[in-house]
Amino acid sequence: MLDLGKKGFITDIKRNSLDDGPGIRTVIFFKGCPLSCIWCQNPECMQLNQEISYSSEDCINCNECSEICPEDAINFSLNYPIIIEKCTYCGKCIMHCKTKALKFVGSFYTVKELLDTILIDKPFFENSNGGITLSGGEATYQMPFLHLFLKQAKSNNIHVCLETCGFFNKEPFFERILPFIDLVYFDLKIFDEKLHMKYCGVSNKKIFENFTALLDSKSVKVLPRIPLIPKITLNDNNLNQWANYLEDLGIKKIELLPYNPLWHSKVNSIGKSLQFTHSEWLDAHDKVRINKFFSAFEFRDI
Ligand code: SF4
Ligand code: SF4
Repeated sequence: MLDLGKKGFITDIKRNSLDDGPGIRTVIFFKGCPLSCIWCQNPECMQLNQEISYSSEDCINCNECSEICPEDAINFSLNYPIIIEKCTYCGKCIMHCKTKALKFVGSFYTVKELLDTILIDKPFFENSNGGITLSGGEATYQMPFLHLFLKQAKSNNIHVCLETCGFFNKEPFFERILPFIDLVYFDLKIFDEKLHMKYCGVSNKKIFENFTALLDSKSVKVLPRIPLIPKITLNDNNLNQWANYLEDLGIKKIELLPYNPLWHSKVNSIGKSLQFTHSEWLDAHDKVRINKFFSAFEFRDI
């Protein structure tokens, strides 16, 4: 059983990012998300439970893992060899895999371990007006740990940007998380509630409520971001609805996130199957179409 009050479950930490907020940033990818968007480009961050990734390219077929497994949970006749129903995540196969073809997805960090990891980069933050960016997955999905970590980050004068899907419990968020946040990148995906449920797994009511509550609070800079997912969010109806909605709220600045198709192989490596197979980048025609809806807005520079 994971005790996520005491430890954070972190999939990755990426240093020297110039794309995830102002200045030079260290991006912390939290594991687990309340949404299940079928195009999620970080599928390894979707689930809060433990997972093992397998790389057939790194595997030399020595079979040491299946011989050592006490649960008989490895079968190489399957595309993804771990039988999840049998695996107890004891880690023996990972320890015995010489080529690192098998790996745990993510690691557990205490507040001190995570703080020590990011404080190494503090001189870069200070020289570039940078800081940390909480990404994922959804960082607020691990709220007890996040609260403790942010208290320490703020007492060390670290600028904090939160990238969020917006699906969190408002009261604890406003009380325990928001006081430590400097900037919010708030994702807005599908305007229609039924389509949101179909493609993201949950209603968007809570997301709308949290978005307007954050704007009304005027306590933090909020940048709405719309991911451009072919046919799903990137269709005239959806873009038109978001543009009108944001204009009515008096929003002047937004960010549009172009679709990146380079995530497909990550899905197979953790034993999941692709639910969205679009494999092309946006083209010039898409860009003209998108600009038509958002000509009244400026684009991100905060
Ligand atoms: S983690 Fe343990 S139980 Fe799971 S496949 Fe590896 S050795 Fe077997
Ligand atoms: S131990 Fe590693 S390299 Fe050997 S069969 Fe298992 S996954 Fe492949």
